[in-house]
Amino acid sequence: MTTMAQDTQPNKLTPAELAKREGLRARKHYVADKLAAITEMEERGEISPIIRLEKSYLCNFQCTHCSAEYYMDRHQKKVFKIKDARRKIDLDDIRELSRQADELGLARFVITGGEPLVMKDFDAVVEAIDPDKHYVITDTNGWFLDDAKARHLKSIGVEKVQLSLDSMIEADHDAFRNKPGSYKKVMRAIDASLNAGLNLLLSTVLIKGRAKSPEFLDMCRFATERNVGLYVSYAKPTGSCTEHPEFVIEKEDADILRELEKDYNVFTHMTPTYGSFKGCITVKGIITVTSTFEVTPCPYIDFSLGNLRETSLKEVLARGMRNPWLGPYRPDCIIGEDPKFIKLHTEKTRGVTHLPVPWGQGFSDTDTLTD
Ligand code: SF4
Repeated sequence: MTTMAQDTQPNKLTPAELAKREGLRARKHYVADKLAAITEMEERGEISPIIRLEKSYLCNFQCTHCSAEYYMDRHQKKVFKIKDARRKIDLDDIRELSRQADELGLARFVITGGEPLVMKDFDAVVEAIDPDKHYVITDTNGWFLDDAKARHLKSIGVEKVQLSLDSMIEADHDAFRNKPGSYKKVMRAIDASLNAGLNLLLSTVLIKGRAKSPEFLDMCRFATERNVGLYVSYAKPTGSCTEHPEFVIEKEDADILRELEKDYNVFTHMTPTYGSFKGCITVKGIITVTSTFEVTPCPYIDFSLGNLRETSLKEVLARGMRNPWLGPYRPDCIIGEDPKFIKLHTEKTRGVTHLPVPWGQGFSDTDTLTD
């Protein structure tokens, strides 16, 4: 499954995390300098989005809330009875993406999917990104992340693991993930990651009503006691959740979460960082590169800003920044809260066999916010 956990953790670094940051500088000076420069770039009005790389959508789970479900071959075969004829990215494409990203001062890659740790070429993908040039993070459901795997990830240059945990109640997590035994594997993966010296972020999906549950409070406590950040993403009306509108959160959930942020190491990607309020981070803080080299501005928005085989990363980012939906600062979530955009998105993605909708058919340079 894919969520949107990312390296935008607020300034709540523990002494252990500070030590890790210094450790990174000693090992990878170039990467540490680029990370340190992000704040200055943003102050100059430049952007340095995290690149979520979806090389493959293969997954050993079938989660109820997966936002990648509609990108998966299994979905395209099941629903549209077609084989995906579009060319998939290869390692040379990733090398080129890494080069262009480095040239623009971008510093962070998240390998996501699907489940990255089922990818046979995972190590080659890390190498193609180049961990000496970029801070490499991987998402995972934790199933394969034992001590040996964690040590291996660290040895090939992965710095951080973002691990999905969807309930502190074992049976509920396993049911949500449609995978008996997955809760126990996550608990094992937490220990393994910390033992191997990887940075760790827990990532959880908030569905309607969960924020006020004792279970969620338990999770906030658990993460805080283990000195691990808990990244919360909201269920959005896209991906598998299109068929589960009952999951989509309401304002009450977001309000409760904002209160919990004051006492626990819990946050969303819209949580204020270093005193500034970022709001929606489409393009400014995040982009997704899909398995067919399309670039989307947020994992929940299935409109492309262009294909990197035809358009440079620099131009794709420029398109995003001049788009009225995406470029300007906005405090709300367009795909979760803006009824006009949600309607537009639902209409334009309905029945589309290959997501994302190409540049020009979803987003374009003629977009306006008025009818
Ligand atoms: S639209 Fe903006 S606020 Fe909403 S999930 Fe995407 S990046 Fe986040």
